[in-house]
Amino acid sequence: MHEPIDPSPTIDQAVNGGFPWLEIRCARCKTPSDVDLAAMKHPPTTFVHDLASRLRCRKCAKAGRRPSATLLQLTWQPRHPRTES
Ligand SMILES: [Zn+2]
Repeated sequence: MHEPIDPSPTIDQAVNGGFPWLEIRCARCKTPSDVDLAAMKHPPTTFVHDLASRLRCRKCAKAGRRPSATLLQLTWQPRHPRTES
């Protein structure tokens, strides 16, 4: 169960629409991860697409790299195990 992210909703619309998770993939190491939109510090009127350049892969960040994230889809629950460090 998922929703296409084109056209891009705002964070608020996604969360209220029942899709509070954003699945992303690192453009460099291809590591997938899930972003909890409800926990984002960005204003709720921020477009989900605008988050791509602001989300950073933790693995690459540790390596001193800052690749952008590829947005995959909005989901109603996390699809990947959390990789909190
Ligand atoms: Zn990465």
